[in-house]
Amino acid sequence: KIVQETEKLEAVSNKNGTGESRILVFVRLRPMDKKEKEAGSRCCVRIVKGRDVYLTEFANENDYLRLKRLRGRHFTFDASFPDSTPQHEVYSKTTAELVEAVLHGRNGSVFCYGATGAGKTYTMLGTVENPGVMVLAMKDLFTKIRQRSCDGNHVVHLSYLEVYNETIRDLLSPGRPLLLREDKQGIMAAAGLTKYRAYSTDEAMALLQQGNQNRTTEPTRVNETSSRSHAILQVVVLEYRVKDASMNIVNRVGKLSLIDLAGSERALATDQRTLRSLEGASINRSLLALSSCINALVEGKKHIPYRNSKLTQLLKDSLGGACNTVMIANISPSNLSFGETQNTLHWANRAKEIRTKASEANEEIQRLPEFETDQAKLLLELQKQN
Ligand code: ADP
Ligand code: MG
Repeated sequence: KIVQETEKLEAVSNKNGTGESRILVFVRLRPMDKKEKEAGSRCCVRIVKGRDVYLTEFANENDYLRLKRLRGRHFTFDASFPDSTPQHEVYSKTTAELVEAVLHGRNGSVFCYGATGAGKTYTMLGTVENPGVMVLAMKDLFTKIRQRSCDGNHVVHLSYLEVYNETIRDLLSPGRPLLLREDKQGIMAAAGLTKYRAYSTDEAMALLQQGNQNRTTEPTRVNETSSRSHAILQVVVLEYRVKDASMNIVNRVGKLSLIDLAGSERALATDQRTLRSLEGASINRSLLALSSCINALVEGKKHIPYRNSKLTQLLKDSLGGACNTVMIANISPSNLSFGETQNTLHWANRAKEIRTKASEANEEIQRLPEFETDQAKLLLELQKQN
């Protein structure tokens, strides 16, 4: 069983012997919606063999020229999901292994990228009937913890924040904006962010729901319920396990970040520019900063400009640190969104080249204080019986 698990973890981290791992990049196509159908749009995306994405026609001559410049209208990803793909399949192919890895003290992050209305929030959060990655990950995590409750003790902490207009807000206890601080390991984190302990799936769901109600949502022309903020759900799993008869205990900490990015379209795509220019500019600032970080990472630059935005500072360890990272690029099938789709696929294609350090288990061995050894003996006994 242990061998199997190790193999699985190797596969997740995509190790190539150098301790590097590659970002896994997926594309998800959403079904054509009513508005698009009514506008008489045609489908301009085709997914072949579950991996290849073809842009099949152009909205206009300019698109054709732009596409030629980007060399090709065909992209290949780790997997590409056609519009009929159910939520649980997206979850199991993109995130399930990261949840397993987090239980082993490793870091993972999943982020959804794409234009407003392309299906990011549907993928991450989903609906009551069709829950998305965040919900399925919480369910899976608690199921896995319950299955191995004799194997150790797990503590799950949740935090949920949003970056809106270059301001960080705590979605679980709204109040003053949070500042960024660098911790001892050089990891940027929002200082004073609430960490709630969750004991069950239900509790995790309640926290998630509470956080969503606090999200900044603004109607835009493109999509009435779209959010112009970036939301980051962080799940920290602590495990302590009795190692051996000497009563040493092993502490492991794994962190999973699930990120719903704001729409990647340029501010030009919406016409309420004057009204929203500040917002538009800062969304662009974060996403622009994200794209320059991706560029710098792909080109192997020494200096990666994380400091240019709040978002990139928060994602620093997901992009360039020891972390197993997954990107899901969401696209619409309509030729009316051709430009955005092309842009999204272009960035997704570039992200494939990012190498991160494979996440090692964050593990620490501690000698138990005398007064706790009785409990430890009991735990060890239980572990053996298991
Ligand atoms: P975004 O967060 O990228 O702006 P949403 O996730 O809000 O976009 O999706 C826009 C609309 O399309 C929503 O009404 C959502 O329910 C629907 N939708 C998105 N993806 C899918 C899908 N794969 N299947 C069914 N409906 C979807
Ligand atoms: Mg959204």
